[in-house]
Amino acid sequence: MAGTLYLVATPIGNLQDISFRAIEILKNVEQIACEDTRHSRKLLNFYEISNKLVSYHEHNELERSDEFAEILKQGKSIAIISDAGTTGINDPGYKMVQKAYEIGATVVPIPGAVAFVNAAIASGLPTDSLFFGGFLPSKKGQRRKRLDEVKQIPATLAFYESPHRLGKSLVDCLDVLGNRQAAVARELTKLHEEIVRGELKDLAEKYSSANSKGEIVLVIERAATGEIVKNNLHTIAERVKEMEGGGIEPRAALKKAAKEFGMSKSEAYRILQSQKQ
Ligand code: SAM
Repeated sequence: MAGTLYLVATPIGNLQDISFRAIEILKNVEQIACEDTRHSRKLLNFYEISNKLVSYHEHNELERSDEFAEILKQGKSIAIISDAGTTGINDPGYKMVQKAYEIGATVVPIPGAVAFVNAAIASGLPTDSLFFGGFLPSKKGQRRKRLDEVKQIPATLAFYESPHRLGKSLVDCLDVLGNRQAAVARELTKLHEEIVRGELKDLAEKYSSANSKGEIVLVIERAATGEIVKNNLHTIAERVKEMEGGGIEPRAALKKAAKEFGMSKSEAYRILQSQKQ
């Protein structure tokens, strides 16, 4: 029987942010796959783990996955860790996970820190619905296009950002998304941890003039309901019509469309009426 692939979360700064279970697994697997062996060795040394470390990054992901598959096929276990946080979140991992399923290995996630989740909970913005967009594109045109794509998502938005692009990205966020509440979470769990909250216009001004350092997550308020509704006016009417065309009774169609667009039935009804006038 094939072995187990463990996806083990490691700290995003403070070395103590790792679970007892993660340490046990790192001690006992056949080998540990990591992005940078020198970087991960520091964590292993801290916990007196002397297990074998093998590099696994975006450039050797495919060939390494084949090697790890051979080990798993022998019934042995492997752990994948990344330089920081949860492996597979903006880090290599999923190709190996696919491979593991192909060969009948068991896949087990070992939970722990994720930078955007911690930034979101500390931002003071609602997290009942949270959209994670990874890194925004480095080129201005592409970045603005991406922001335009996510503008209407009815969820708090979270992005990873590099310190030297932060000012420019905040200006683009302000221009494309409008002036929303936001937070810049920097160096979470580390010595210089800082969470700066405010309106995008103030943050854009602050970070355009100051050089920022360290690792950063940008968290932005969702679009106001009115804004989403305004932009969805036609789509709601179209959706109701579509469902009615498919034989759904008008009241049921309205109820269903309202649910799909994240609004109450009365709100959806009001929009449809305002369109008829
Ligand atoms: N796997 C990681 C996770 O679970 O969050 C993310 C890896 S991604 C390649 C690295 C980016 O995550 C950084 O550039 C930064 O945007 C964010 N990040 C990682 N650690 C952070 C920290 N301590 N504080 C703020 N942001 C952090």
